[in-house]
Amino acid sequence: MERLRVQAEGAAAVDEYVEYRRIVGDDDGGKLFTPEQYEEYKRKMLPIRLQNRLYVSWRSSTGMDCKLVGPETQCFCTHRYKQHKTDYEEIPEDRPICVPCRVSCCQCKSYHYVPLNGTQPIRCRCKHFADQHSAAPGFSCNSCSKCSGFHSCFTCGCGQPTYAHETVVETKQERLAQGKPVGQDVPYAAMGGLTGFSSLAEGYMRLDDSGVGGSNAAKQVSNLRSSEEDDMAYFEKQYQERLKKEKAAKQKVKGLLLSKNP
Ligand SMILES: [Zn+2]
Ligand SMILES: [Zn+2]
Ligand SMILES: [Zn+2]
Ligand SMILES: [Zn+2]
Ligand SMILES: [Zn+2]
Repeated sequence: MERLRVQAEGAAAVDEYVEYRRIVGDDDGGKLFTPEQYEEYKRKMLPIRLQNRLYVSWRSSTGMDCKLVGPETQCFCTHRYKQHKTDYEEIPEDRPICVPCRVSCCQCKSYHYVPLNGTQPIRCRCKHFADQHSAAPGFSCNSCSKCSGFHSCFTCGCGQPTYAHETVVETKQERLAQGKPVGQDVPYAAMGGLTGFSSLAEGYMRLDDSGVGGSNAAKQVSNLRSSEEDDMAYFEKQYQERLKKEKAAKQKVKGLLLSKNP
């Protein structure tokens, strides 16, 4: 009995820690916030996130979002989206909105998605790989002098070459104006273009266009290693739990109404 209780507490602590990481990211500088600091952080950041979220996607020339960028999605600079500046107290007025990398000495001025060929980097027309190019604007090649900037003919699942796509950073209002899905409001860091738990699948594989829904089976967050798949599992689990709570709350209200008005 005692061991079961300890196990349950341990599991709850892991869940809490995962939730903490999803919200705080690396903003604690590697030293866990005290409960007071955590509350203060949430008081300050959550309204900013809910109001000023930036949606990041990789869009083909036909207007399809072929990739929705999430916390773990790699940039051309090889750092992940969550390592870029993703929280804005005020949304910049200039377009395109720049999302610079926060890793010290990285020359990336704004998040730039580049697809992978399976798990391998794709090649430029100069024959060198994406990661052999500079992350500074212009994306010149570090390995040859004939390259005029990264340009890849690698074909996306949508049938269009990589070069016919662009990374798009936009606000909620801008997406709504185009009839694009915005998903639910979430308190987590660096959500980018993820609008639902099924939205990590690439555009042409998604079952619905809302990003909310789909049929991916719930998967437990089995460890604390983060990957794009873990993002999907985590958001799926949170989503299902919220649905369950909402349903239970509705039934409770219904029960109360019935008992008052038999
Ligand atoms: Zn970087
Ligand atoms: Zn970058
Ligand atoms: Zn090149
Ligand atoms: Zn080259
Ligand atoms: Zn595409």
